[in-house]
Amino acid sequence: MSHQTPAPGALDAPGGPVGALGNPPERILMLPGPSNLHPRVRQALGAPLVGHKDPYFLELMERVTAQLRCLFQTVYSATFALPATGGSGMDAALINLLEPGDAVVVGVCGFFGERMVDIAQRVGARATVVQSPWGQPLDPEDIRRALERSEAKVVAVVHGETSTGVCQPLEEIAHAARAQGALLVVDAVASLGGVSLPCDALGVDVCFSGSQKCLSAPPGLAPITLSPAAMARILGRRQRVPSFYFDLTLHARYWSTEHIYHHTAPVLNVYALHQALCLIEEEGLEARFARHRLHARAATAGLEALGLHLLPEPAHRLASVLAVLVPEGVAEAPVRDVLATEFQLDISGGLGAYAGRLWRIGIMGHSAQRRNVALLLNGLEVALRRQGYHPRPGAALEAAEAVYAGAG
Ligand SMILES: *Cc1c(COP(=O)(O)O)cnc(C)c1O
Repeated sequence: MSHQTPAPGALDAPGGPVGALGNPPERILMLPGPSNLHPRVRQALGAPLVGHKDPYFLELMERVTAQLRCLFQTVYSATFALPATGGSGMDAALINLLEPGDAVVVGVCGFFGERMVDIAQRVGARATVVQSPWGQPLDPEDIRRALERSEAKVVAVVHGETSTGVCQPLEEIAHAARAQGALLVVDAVASLGGVSLPCDALGVDVCFSGSQKCLSAPPGLAPITLSPAAMARILGRRQRVPSFYFDLTLHARYWSTEHIYHHTAPVLNVYALHQALCLIEEEGLEARFARHRLHARAATAGLEALGLHLLPEPAHRLASVLAVLVPEGVAEAPVRDVLATEFQLDISGGLGAYAGRLWRIGIMGHSAQRRNVALLLNGLEVALRRQGYHPRPGAALEAAEAVYAGAG
């Protein structure tokens, strides 16, 4: 045995080489992001790395751009993926569209709307905040009045408010924006690929998302699309975009057929996103939205059979995130602990004002499956019983099964 031979078991131990932490656990992710990866997406992450100027990769970028246009339901060429998480899309959209002193209307009905106000203020824009209580969507009439009063040329809203499980209807807001000649910015991080969002038909000017939610790719990319009017506003700025890295005109040129170098693309993430988008193409957008609705309905029926209530009214519920009120007398975190340690299933707690008062359950992408819904409901029933809360045994699964049966 040579002195270079590692100690027996050192390299093939479950932990791998000495010092390595070992394999990450296999978990069922029913978080409001990230969601589980399909095996094909996982495999893509292990494909050979090429350089970011390799002809293979440049061709892949063009393919991904085309796939993203289908996903956003847009024909506009300025459609690509930023090399950072969903939040970078929000930063980039507002930093590029707004200059100091510009008026902007921001719709706030939860945590991510509040973040948009924060970013607009950091840019030095004058933000008019239109609010609605957590759990309710914005009133388009409030947006219309705010646009009229402020003469803002940009309005920003969240489509799927992850903190409250509310899906914001966009038709009337888009109409109000158009009437005032304002650009509409939409945060679709939690909804794109799970809930229909036809950007061109609605008249959305900038829409951004994240790779790890309903798309079920790893976190690290922010798909984004810009209308010609949005691009024109950026090109017509008085001052240059104050961030080099998030100057969207530079990203657009990098992703266009010019491929003018801007950054070293996270090549493996783009492979994975490509596979995730292929899976979406194969499933079909409408079938995918229907799948999200089905599992959301089944999970909701089960939750209600457990005696639980969702925060938003039925008409405003987001299929991809269920916001469930923690009943009186039940401790929020211990329920999640039971799911995590005994069922290897992760859900999330509440944000901001609803910390400790909500469970948030992701019905996203590859995680949106019947077996996951069944395990979730079973796990919740067990966890609730531990706290002296006694739903009728099996009632949740029965209610979910009735939804699946009705779906034929
Ligand atoms: C998750 C989320 C974000 C932030 O995305 P990250 O990938 O965590 O940066 C922004 N907006 C909404 C609506 C989200 O759900």
